[in-house]
Amino acid sequence: MDVLFVSAEVAPFSKTGGLGDVAGALPRALAARGHRVVVFTPRHGVVDPGTHRLEPLPFPIEAGGQSAALWVVRGPAPVFFLEHERLFGHRRGIYADPGHEYGDNAERFAFFCRAALVLPRLIGFRPRVVHLNDWHTALCSWLLRHEAGAEPWAAAARSVFTVHNLAHQGDFAKEKVPALGLPWSAFRYDEGMEFHDRLNLMKAGLTFADALTTVSPGYAREILGPEQGEGLDPLLRHRAHELHGILNGIDVEEWDPERDALLPARFGPGRLAGKARCKAALQAEVGLPVRADVPVLAMVGRLADQKGLDIALSALPALLGQELQLVQLGTGRPDYEQALHRLMHERPQQVRVRTHFDEGLAHRIEAGADLFLMPSRFEPCGLNQMYSLRYGTVPVVRAVGGLADTVEDFDGKSRGTGFCFHEYSAQALLTAMRRALDVYRDRKAWRGLMERGMAEDNSWARSAARYEQVYEALAGGA
Ligand code: ADP
Repeated sequence: MDVLFVSAEVAPFSKTGGLGDVAGALPRALAARGHRVVVFTPRHGVVDPGTHRLEPLPFPIEAGGQSAALWVVRGPAPVFFLEHERLFGHRRGIYADPGHEYGDNAERFAFFCRAALVLPRLIGFRPRVVHLNDWHTALCSWLLRHEAGAEPWAAAARSVFTVHNLAHQGDFAKEKVPALGLPWSAFRYDEGMEFHDRLNLMKAGLTFADALTTVSPGYAREILGPEQGEGLDPLLRHRAHELHGILNGIDVEEWDPERDALLPARFGPGRLAGKARCKAALQAEVGLPVRADVPVLAMVGRLADQKGLDIALSALPALLGQELQLVQLGTGRPDYEQALHRLMHERPQQVRVRTHFDEGLAHRIEAGADLFLMPSRFEPCGLNQMYSLRYGTVPVVRAVGGLADTVEDFDGKSRGTGFCFHEYSAQALLTAMRRALDVYRDRKAWRGLMERGMAEDNSWARSAARYEQVYEALAGGA
C-alpha cells in the first residue's frame, strides 16, 4: 500500500506530545510491514537541518499561490519537510510561543494541507491512502474531495483521519474562511466546517475523511457521548461504524531499558539491579536525598487541565505527609507551574519540579521512579503509562480512555500491572495511591507488579497491523 502520512509534528524532529511520537513511529512500523509510506511535515524552527541531516530538494513546491522549499530525510519511511520561513522556519514553537498561540495558525496549517496534496506529483508518488492526524491536517480531506481534481493520483485516493485529541479542534473566527481561500459553501453545519458560527477545521476531517480512527478503544467509545464528545459527539455517533479505536504503540527501540543510552545503568525483566542504580542516580540528579527505601513517585507530561493537575495538587499535600519523594517534569499552565514550585519550596527534601522539555530526563525519570501518576480527566491514549510499564515503574492512573485499556488494576494477589481509580476526585486519587504505597512495602508483591508490567507487549507492530486493515478496507472499496 502507498500511504502519504501527514502530521504537524514528527519525532525526533519536532514534538510537543504523543502526536509527534506516533508520527515518528507508525510510518516506520508500516514500512517494516512492506508498505511504502511517505511522511510530510513542516520544517519548524526547532528542526535543525544539520543535526538531522536534512537534504534539500532541487525544486520548489507551489501551493495556494505561495512557493516554498522542500527537504527530505531518507529512510524506510522518508520524511519530507515543507520549508517556509515566515510560516514555520522562523518560529520558535510549533503552535505557540510560551503563553500564546500563534494568531495565524489557520493560515499556517491550511498552506501545509494544500502543499501536502501537491507533494506526491512532485516526487512521483501515487498514494492510495492519505493518513491525516488531528485538526492541523484535517483540511486535506475537504481539499481531496473539492480541489485536488488536477492531481493525477487524487481520484483513486482515500483518506483516514486520526483523532489524537478531540479537545483541540482548530476553532477560528469565520472571517478565516475567505482568508484560507475557502468558499462560503464549505461553511455550513451539515457536510461542512461551521460549528457555533465559527470555522472548525477538525470537522473537515470528521466529515470528509473516508475512515476515522482514534488512539484507543476506550477513547473511541467515550467520544461518542456528550461528556467527552466536546460537542462533536452527534457527528461522531453518525459515523460510529466508520470509527476505529486503535491503541498507540510505543517505540520499543527508543524506550528500551536494556539498551537506553540516556540511562546511567541498564536493566530488564529479571535483571533489576540496574533500576536501583537508576533510582539513586535520579535522586542525585534532581537533588533529593539518595534513599533506596523511600518510594519515588513521578509525573511527566504537559501541565494541562486534561492531565488532572487540579486533583493531583489537592491530593499531594496529604500524600507527602508520608515517606514519599515526588519528581515532576512538564511545562504548561503557568498557575500549575507556580503551584508545583511552591510545593517544592515547602518540601525541598521531598519534591523536585522541572518545568522545561527534557527528553533525557524523561527517560531517567521513567527508569528511576517506583510509581508513575497519571490522574487524567480524559486521556485519548497516553504513552507515559506504557513507558512506565516497560521501565518497571508501576502506574497509578485514572481508568479513562487509553489508560483503562493499558493498565490493569492490581487484584491484591497475582494479577494486574498498576493501580486504577474511577471517580475524578482528589479523594479517589489518594485512596489509589495509599493502596499502591501499602503494596510497595510488600517487596514480593511489588516485584510481581513490576515483572508483569515489563512483560507487556505495547510495540507498534500490533497497532500497525490494525491500521493496515483500515487502509485495505478503504482501498479495496476504492
Ligand atoms: P500528550 O500527547 O497528551 O501530551 P502522551 O502521554 O500521549 O501525552 O505523550 C506525551 C509525550 O511527551 C511522552 O513521550 C512524554 O514523555 C513527552 N513529554 C511531555 N512533556 C515532556 C517534557 N517536559 N519533557 C520531556 N518529555 C515530555
